[in-house]
Amino acid sequence: MNDISTVTVLGTGVLGSQIAFQTAFRGFAVTAYDINEEALESARERFELLAQRYQKDGVEGADEETTRAAIDRLTLTADLGDSVREADLVIEAIPELISLKRDTYERLGELAPERTIFATNSSTLLPSELKDFTGRPEKFLALHFANEVWRFNIAEVMGTADTDPAVFDQVVSFAGAIGMVPIPLHKEKAGYVLNSLLVPLLHAGYALAAGGYSEPEDIDKVWRISTGAPMGPFQITDIIGLRTPYNVLSEKDGEALQLAEWLKTNYIDKGKLGAASGEGFYTYS
Ligand code: NAD
Repeated sequence: MNDISTVTVLGTGVLGSQIAFQTAFRGFAVTAYDINEEALESARERFELLAQRYQKDGVEGADEETTRAAIDRLTLTADLGDSVREADLVIEAIPELISLKRDTYERLGELAPERTIFATNSSTLLPSELKDFTGRPEKFLALHFANEVWRFNIAEVMGTADTDPAVFDQVVSFAGAIGMVPIPLHKEKAGYVLNSLLVPLLHAGYALAAGGYSEPEDIDKVWRISTGAPMGPFQITDIIGLRTPYNVLSEKDGEALQLAEWLKTNYIDKGKLGAASGEGFYTYS
C-alpha cells in the first residue's frame, strides 16, 4: 500500500539534496525547502551535480533526459508553509540540533495538512525524542538513508511506540518505490542497524592501527579477504570523512578519546580528511 505521491524534503544539504533528487528521479513530485535563497542556490548546484553523478555512476535509467526530468519535478522554496501545503510525506533532513528540529516540527505541525506524515532522517536523535514536537506522534517516524543514496540504497524505517502501524507500512512501501531497500526496525535502536554494526568495526580498526598492531592497509586487507567484504574500516572511513568518527569519539571518554586524538594528530591536522579532500588513509586522484 502506498498513498504517497507528493513529497517535501526539508533541508537541501548533503542528505536532503540526495533524498529529494532520488525521489524525483523515481517519478515523484518533490518540493525541497531550505532557509533562504542562498541555500536554495546551493541546492540547485547540488541537483546538477547529482544529475551528473547518476550518469557517471551508471544508475539504471539515468541519462541526460531522465536526470533533467528529475530536476524538472523538483520545486524549490524558502517558504515552509508553501512547501508542505500539498505534502503527503515530509522528510526532514535539517542539521542535527534538537533545538532546530524542535522549532521546525512545531511550525510544521501547525502548517501541514492533517494527513501529512513526517519522517526524520536524523542519525543520532531517536524519533521518540522528537515525536511530541510534531503534534501528531502517530504519523511520525524515522526514515534513515545512507550517504550516496543512489549507491548505498538502504532506508531504515524506525517508528516509536506511538507510530500508527499503517503509517509505518506506507513509509516502508514508499522507500521501496523510490528505489531503496527498506529495512523495518521493530523497535527503537540508537544507530539503527547500520551504525550498530559499523561503528564498533571502525573503532576496532582504529584501535589496531593506533595501538601499533598493524597498518591501516593491512587491517583493511584482512577484513576484505577474510569476509569477502568490498571495503575495510579505513576505506569506509575515507568515504565517510574522518571528521565524523572524530566527532563521535571526542564525545566519549577513555580509549575513545585516545583514538580521537590519534585521528586528529596523524590525519585531520595534516589535511587528510578522507576521499573528498583527496587524501585520508589512502590518496585519491
Ligand atoms: P547538512 O548540514 O549538509 O544540510 C543541512 C541543510 O539544512 C542545509 O542545507 C541547511 O541550510 C538546512 N537548514 C538549516 N536550518 C534549517 C531549518 N531550520 N529548516 C530547514 N533547513 C534548514 O546536513 P546533512 O549531513 O544533510 O544532515 C541532515 C540530517 O541528515 C541530519 O539529521 C543527519 O543526522 C542526517 N544524516 C546525515 C548523513 C550524512 O552522511 N551526512 C547520513 C544520514 C543521515
